[in-house]
Amino acid sequence: MADKHAPFIVLGAGPGGYACAFRAADLGLDVTLVDPRASLGGVCLNEGCIPSKALLHAAEVIREAAHMAAWGIGFGDPKLDLDALRAKKDGIVRQLTDGLSGLARRRKVRVVRGAAVFSGPKSLEIDGETWSFDRAVIAVGSAPVQLPGWPEDARIWDSTAALELRSVPKRLAIVGGGIIGLEMATIYAALGSAVTVIEFLDQIAPGADAEAVQILRAAMEGQGVTIHSATRVTAVKAGKAALTLACEGAFEGEIKADAAIQAVGRRANGSLVNAKAAGVEVDARGVIAVDAQCRTQVPDIFAIGDVTGNPMLAHRATHQGHVAAEVAAGHAAGLDALIPSVAYTNPELAWAGLTPAQAKEAGIAHKLTSFPWAASGRNLASGGSDGLTRIVYDPDTHRLLGATVVGRNAGELLAELVLAMEMGATLEDLALSVHAHPTLSETVAFSAERALGTLTDL
Ligand code: NAD
Repeated sequence: MADKHAPFIVLGAGPGGYACAFRAADLGLDVTLVDPRASLGGVCLNEGCIPSKALLHAAEVIREAAHMAAWGIGFGDPKLDLDALRAKKDGIVRQLTDGLSGLARRRKVRVVRGAAVFSGPKSLEIDGETWSFDRAVIAVGSAPVQLPGWPEDARIWDSTAALELRSVPKRLAIVGGGIIGLEMATIYAALGSAVTVIEFLDQIAPGADAEAVQILRAAMEGQGVTIHSATRVTAVKAGKAALTLACEGAFEGEIKADAAIQAVGRRANGSLVNAKAAGVEVDARGVIAVDAQCRTQVPDIFAIGDVTGNPMLAHRATHQGHVAAEVAAGHAAGLDALIPSVAYTNPELAWAGLTPAQAKEAGIAHKLTSFPWAASGRNLASGGSDGLTRIVYDPDTHRLLGATVVGRNAGELLAELVLAMEMGATLEDLALSVHAHPTLSETVAFSAERALGTLTDL
């Protein structure tokens, strides 16, 4: 006999889980949302997207202020009050998580604090209590991958620890040059750490357009970040005075550091919920496979977000959450959309759809067009660094196949390109839509004009 019953239960209150719960409640379902954390919002709000953006904003202000010296305006060296900065970041997180609790209350979503594990096809245990359910959504996210063979040491951080802002180490080694590694490098280099990024592959931000990544890499190196790509950390020693990372590959030798961040990817949390008891398969990577309706192979059990594998991005989880809720409520829904990626580095790197390399590899007929930001009036007038807007397009139809932007606010600029791709817009649509002058968004129209031969700004 179950202690309690939930008609529709969502496991995990991250951007996937809470979006699913709220959408389901809005569609009239009786919703229970369960999460072990004291606050809603999951990794993204509590220890991921939002706190990192707060610290990245601080990093940007420090850099902008320093930059203004060349414009004849000196602010002097920044005086860092780490406790105040941490409190500010935590306050922003609290404001958002409190807001979510209010939204849940107003929707009459029942929030249960606890860790849920399946105990049968239609039952769960939540901290010793047995619950029966009609339909369930697994939205339990992912956790940082821990590298094997590393010592236990308080100076070795994962992304959660790094965002706690415990200290600003003099020398910081970051293992992994993916999005987390690069964002952490951006934050800590601005706060004053001498940062070294060690990336296993030839390219940092693997998967992004190589030319755009080169612009980001040069900018980061210009900010004092040392980057060793094609390099592997073979051993780590935790000495009294420092950590020592032995490296092999393009860089051979030892790196001494006062702290190190492991940012080598995240692992899906599928194995944490005993999904097997409900008949749901979890693969060796902790991933639960789903179809476009976010259904697992068990009817009435859905999975959304990082637990369903790559790309592990909050906005994908949110959209999947809406789809699962709508399907559960009997609506026709499915996810078949581009998932944009943004690294909130300085400059930002944003992309969606096919990169030139991916188009080539897939044998898809394509052409490239781009606009260098050195020719953007707005970029220069705002003290912007090097940047590039680049479009991959179909030579016959002129439809967009992919786009990459590297430069200030690239993440915001990408939205127009994503909409263009979703709507099947052509280069002509972009070129003939009047973009206000002077804006960075002109670089989108200028790229299209360049391909059409109508550009006069280059
Ligand atoms: P990632 O997969 O993006 O990058 C990990 C990097 O580590 C890769 O470049 C990989 O080649 C490298 N690597 C792996 N093993 C290594 C080793 N032994 N030595 C050196 N390098 C090694 O993962 P991440 O940066 O940890 O991020 C985790 C997830 O979180 C990703 O899915 C990411 O997209 C997501 N995320 C997104 C954002 C954002 O959208 N802005 C921010 C943070 C995290």
